Amino acid sequence: MKIYKAAIIGLGPSGLAVNKILYGDSDYEIIAFENEDVNKRDNYFGFWLTDWMKPFEPIIEKKWYKWNIEDNNINVTHTSSDKPYCVISFRKWKNHCLETKNKLKIKNKKVIEYFSFQNYFKIITADKSEYYAEKIYDSRSIKEKKGELLQHFFGVNITVEGHIFDKNKLTLMHFTQEKNLLHFMYILPFSHNKALVESTVFSKEVFTNSWYREKINDYLSLKNISEFKEDSTEKGVIPMFVAEEKNSSNPNIYNIGIRGGACKPSTGYAFSFLIKQIQLLKNSKKNYVNVHKFLEKKMDKIFIKFLKNNNENGRSFIKLASSLNGNEFQSFMMGESNLLTKLKIVKSMPKLPFIKELFKKDD
Ligand SMILES: Cc1cc2nc3c(=O)[nH]c(=O)nc-3n(C[C@H](O)[C@H](O)[C@H](O)COP(=O)(O)OP(=O)(O)OC[C@H]3O[C@@H](n4cnc5c(N)ncnc54)[C@H](O)[C@@H]3O)c2cc1C
Repeated sequence: MKIYKAAIIGLGPSGLAVNKILYGDSDYEIIAFENEDVNKRDNYFGFWLTDWMKPFEPIIEKKWYKWNIEDNNINVTHTSSDKPYCVISFRKWKNHCLETKNKLKIKNKKVIEYFSFQNYFKIITADKSEYYAEKIYDSRSIKEKKGELLQHFFGVNITVEGHIFDKNKLTLMHFTQEKNLLHFMYILPFSHNKALVESTVFSKEVFTNSWYREKINDYLSLKNISEFKEDSTEKGVIPMFVAEEKNSSNPNIYNIGIRGGACKPSTGYAFSFLIKQIQLLKNSKKNYVNVHKFLEKKMDKIFIKFLKNNNENGRSFIKLASSLNGNEFQSFMMGESNLLTKLKIVKSMPKLPFIKELFKKDD
């Protein structure tokens, strides 16, 4: 009977990070289970450059030192000379994390259950096979929950004729005015003629691809782009609720990634946080680390409650952005803002609805 040093459940970004960051320099034998064909997965993960992401600079696809938050009438441009917005593709992250000294066995199987068995764990897969490991890193998470807000999106990587995009400035949020719906476009211009154009919604239900496509086409027409070649697409659903599992009482079970609380629910940013989580786990004796600070979590919760109960059209986001400079904004988005920045944010928010949410009981 073979007993692996660790079993990773799910080879998304966090499972991959465990292989690289925790075991990459060791000789251990690790087993990973993945339900889907990860070789078919690719998408871009955006984040602002922080100290903990600096080791991954060589695999960053592109950096932008300027970004926009806007609607058709107001435009806020931020710049940062040393904390740019960056993207890493899933494919590059996967290749980086699979290039290690340790021996990783990947099983394309669904894990049904695992339980403690003598000094280790017995893992059962859908085909009723049994595997054994000393530690479990579990990244399975719920993406949807009835009555809760979701961030859902569909994007198209396009190539156009001519010099159309400003490759030095990305559009973080271009709010369109929809009836009772918060919708924005996210544009990553990789070059003057290549960009990811994504339609994003905050709502309780996910839409069909044709809905987002219509919004993408509307936006492109607004920019006088009528012809383009579609290179690839990406889509996703990110929970805007705390999709975190309780930390296990068994010290050898680690909940990681979104399951371990890495996501910042009000923004859907999780990638750089889940890397931070695994880095923190490396230096911790515990099976749980707090990726987000108490005050940040509290502000996030209030903001989500506000979004859930009010028809927000993007003006609060624009107001927040206009009250901060680029470095303050990125520090807030990356959970590193100081008290003064937090106060500026609170000051920029619509007072009455926020005070109401603050005193409302949790659902
Ligand atoms: C298209 C897309 C774009 C995103 N863009 C950004 C971004 O720009 N910036 C950012 O910060 N965040 C972004 N996110 C959010 C977040 O970073 C991702 O959701 C990220 O994939 C979370 O990683 P994870 O490892 O926690 O979970 P997942 O990526 O969901 O990985 C879990 C893995 O477990 C597998 N699995 C599930 N159940 C089982 C089972 N029973 N047995 C075996 N395997 C199983 C799944 O197939 C999956 O591969 C994006 C998400 C998506 C979907």
